[in-house]
Amino acid sequence: MAAAILGNQKMLSPLEKLQTGPPLLPMLVEGQSFIDAQDECSVTEFCKKYGMPDRIIQEIFIPMAKALDFIDPDRLSMTVVLTAMNRFINETDGSQTAFLDGNQPDRLCQPMVEHIKRLGGDVRLGAVVEEVVLRPDGFVDYLSMRGGEKFRADEYVSAMPVDVLKRLLPQQWSIMPFFRQLDHLEGIPVINIHLWFDRKLRNIDALCFSRSPLLSVQLGRLRGPRMQTKFEFAEASIQTTARCIGMCWG
Ligand SMILES: Cc1cc2nc3c(=O)[nH]c(=O)nc-3n(C[C@H](O)[C@H](O)[C@H](O)COP(=O)(O)OP(=O)(O)OC[C@H]3O[C@@H](n4cnc5c(N)ncnc54)[C@H](O)[C@@H]3O)c2cc1C
Repeated sequence: MAAAILGNQKMLSPLEKLQTGPPLLPMLVEGQSFIDAQDECSVTEFCKKYGMPDRIIQEIFIPMAKALDFIDPDRLSMTVVLTAMNRFINETDGSQTAFLDGNQPDRLCQPMVEHIKRLGGDVRLGAVVEEVVLRPDGFVDYLSMRGGEKFRADEYVSAMPVDVLKRLLPQQWSIMPFFRQLDHLEGIPVINIHLWFDRKLRNIDALCFSRSPLLSVQLGRLRGPRMQTKFEFAEASIQTTARCIGMCWG
């Protein structure tokens, strides 16, 4: 990985690499403690603080921030970028891109369901939580499900998106300091469009991280005689996505 970065002269000049390398050295030497300490710093602030050239932000950190979190570098914590970079550099296969050899429900979700069932668990689809109902002592009494079922368990773990969790949070909990931390989290709208072509448009799998203000990632993947192209739009609205698709297809 390091050799590839040093060898490639098309993206960054040797001088720009020299200006970029030193601020990243503490990441390699001090590791996670340095990385965690950058959490209050946005990517843009970090670059400016250490005198990295603007082109680094344009060429490297805009696509990287969009790819990692669908937002621009002035809103992303440097900890996120450094964590990813550290893994890319330190792990032999850290920077490899891999694609599932099929659709997600069959190739990813179903094996997970089977594993959970083998261990005695169960997975229920379409089971929508409508309300978290509390006992008088403030602990969960039951989950009120769509359709009227009252669901009780020994432990409750929420993996719902943060915006949904905020909406469903019982009023009694919303003033507790632990849950007040949710106020700082907000969801980022992302739209994902898959286009399937009846023939190959080109002969290699490709993944592009984009600097465009809208488009975040474009994946072009060969699947047998067909080709799949996937666009991911960062911070998207229907209108902007439609405009961007229009631009892509002339
Ligand atoms: C366009 C796009 C591309 C991505 N590409 C990649 C990638 O290439 N590689 C990668 O590693 N990651 C990728 N990610 C990130 C990855 O998809 C997410 O990090 C991951 O899916 C998050 O999983 P999760 O279980 O936390 O949340 P989610 O997958 O969002 O799951 C939340 C679940 O909560 C359910 N839910 C919502 N409300 C309720 C309710 N009231 N009751 C019950 N259930 C409810 C939802 O139905 C959903 O199933 C991508 C994300 C996006 C948006």
